[in-house]
Amino acid sequence: MAGTRRPRSDAAAGPSSTVETACPLDCPDSCSLAVTVQSGRIVEIDGASRNPVTGGYICAKVRKFGQRVYGEDRLLHPAVRSGRKGDGKFKRISWDEALELVVNRFRQAQADSGSASILPFSYGGSNGLLTQDTLDAQLWRRFGTSRLARTVCSAPVTAANQALYGRMPSVTYRDYVHANLIVLWGINPSVTGIHMVPYVREAQKRGAKLVVVDPRTTPLARTADLHLAIKPGTDVGVALAVHRHLFETGCADRKFLGEHAHGADRLRERAEPWTIEAAARTADIDPATLANFVDLYASTSPALVRCGWGLERNRNGGNAAMAVLALPAVGGKFGVRGGGYALSNSTAWNIERTWIRTEEPATRLVNMNNLGRALTEYDDPPVRVLFVYNCNPAVTIPDQRRVVRGLEREDLFTVVFDQVMTDTAFYADLILPATTFLEGYDLAKAYGPIHIDLARPVIDAVGEARSNADVFGELCARLGLLEDHEPSGELEITLGVLDALPGRIGEDLREGGLPSPPFGGAPVQFVDVFPNTPDRKVNLFPADLESEAPQGLYQFRPDPANERYPLALISPASDRTITSTLGELHRPDAKLSMHPADADARGLSDGDLVRIFNELGEVQCPLAVTPSIRRGTVSLPKGLWRRSLRNGWTSTSLVPDTLTDLGGGACFNDARVQVASLATA
Ligand code: SF4
Repeated sequence: MAGTRRPRSDAAAGPSSTVETACPLDCPDSCSLAVTVQSGRIVEIDGASRNPVTGGYICAKVRKFGQRVYGEDRLLHPAVRSGRKGDGKFKRISWDEALELVVNRFRQAQADSGSASILPFSYGGSNGLLTQDTLDAQLWRRFGTSRLARTVCSAPVTAANQALYGRMPSVTYRDYVHANLIVLWGINPSVTGIHMVPYVREAQKRGAKLVVVDPRTTPLARTADLHLAIKPGTDVGVALAVHRHLFETGCADRKFLGEHAHGADRLRERAEPWTIEAAARTADIDPATLANFVDLYASTSPALVRCGWGLERNRNGGNAAMAVLALPAVGGKFGVRGGGYALSNSTAWNIERTWIRTEEPATRLVNMNNLGRALTEYDDPPVRVLFVYNCNPAVTIPDQRRVVRGLEREDLFTVVFDQVMTDTAFYADLILPATTFLEGYDLAKAYGPIHIDLARPVIDAVGEARSNADVFGELCARLGLLEDHEPSGELEITLGVLDALPGRIGEDLREGGLPSPPFGGAPVQFVDVFPNTPDRKVNLFPADLESEAPQGLYQFRPDPANERYPLALISPASDRTITSTLGELHRPDAKLSMHPADADARGLSDGDLVRIFNELGEVQCPLAVTPSIRRGTVSLPKGLWRRSLRNGWTSTSLVPDTLTDLGGGACFNDARVQVASLATA
């Protein structure tokens, strides 16, 4: 199925060819890729033009993905632990021995403590449809293991979007140019979805106003008409101030609300306390700037709110997402190209995972953000076997020290199935080497634009690496969990999934084409698409979420800072990693960003070695003093591995494992810390 471009020749290394594939990593863009291969090795990864959104260029992260494929951290064969947990000593074994060991440990755990004592643990190491929730899901369901609530990212925003709009498809990049106002709320596309940026720039060139809501002066914030550098966790109050203004000034679209929404009056009641002054005071911004934003939003159409994931990473994250996503309904911004909201379009293709052939049983549900507690406290039953794949919880999950304490348990059998020697793999009892997306098939489904493409192998598997589908299929077979003629490996699953995709998607992909996206790839909300709620209306005050949120809907819980730990620590995505993928590549320059006024108050200078600490832990790294972060907030990059910090602890060691108000998400931005010079410690 692989297409090739014109061969190149290099006398020393032989002819090369360029294979087209797609990027299924956890990024909204799902680029089409042109990978140059010479003598069976990748020599270059670049963007292809097959997908117009990619437009022939890709991020620097995936350009260097070859360093992961062939790097010194690559796992090449199965291995069992031969030293103490955490010291990284392993002994090579065969795949047959490795899989038999897993089978024996599963059976032993089942006999001793029940199947729920096995905890599968996975997240978005790949976002491809084949890497997760195929034969792995079948294995866990049929064996009756504990279930995992995959809530480390996007759970609060998704809960809000589901309740308000039933996850209605949203505005895609190419319609940004039709907006007269773009609000980027809690998102920095310059590092998390770079193909959005040219569309924003083009809209600005055509005269659109840009507003950025972010505690940092991101690249797009530098050119914005308004930048609201709000205190982390206060988004809900700021958004409610906009609602209050819309209602108070008669700018709320009463006709639209009457025809297409429920609960506007309840929302108005909750917005009532949020005057411009109250919201500005809470968010610690200039009231005049907020007033300008409110006026601009009320008076401009088409107006687009791009809701990011930065606003959900705190105790008020679900309500913040509710308030932000409700803005176009109250403001009457739908029904016009370039107006409404933009969010994940992952459901636009209407794909159901019908290839998981077993219903999900009602076994124990473990919230992944509480992994440390699950490993150290849960006893009904205790976790006896942890099977980690597609993720690196030792650095990505809150309360890192508690997670590591759990991983150190001698009576815990941990399997890590990954591409490289992650920080989690150091604590494994058994390591299984996995293929990368360049060594197998996957389905790359974008969630910013609406497109889907087939990722295909461009090289043979490196070492003895095997695909997820092959390994989980073989485990199903060895455990007697496969019925006759069921798919048991990557190729069968790939073909089966292609067959199961709705409409012509599978056929188009088999023929090497890009399937035609629904709604022409650019739906206009309330013209082409409507809420997928039971009555097709916007539910502005869903009763179930009112019960779920600790203080009800559209409510604000105060900042957790105290005198000892006054600084808000955020950990936003960077231009180096995709979540924590590629974090193994050495990064000696990981720094804490701090505003000059905060540095002065502590006698700190740029380049000083500092300790960042609270009651949960301490991180040591150099300091970058910069006005690009608001006062009172400090920032460390997301996804760092332990080797990137001086004392081997990352930002997650300072993050409490408390949960968001809706959706059970992680409260990364609720870490409150103090910073001091390491020299004077
Ligand atoms: S990570 Fe995103 S921008 Fe980079 S290649 Fe993949 S899809 Fe494209």
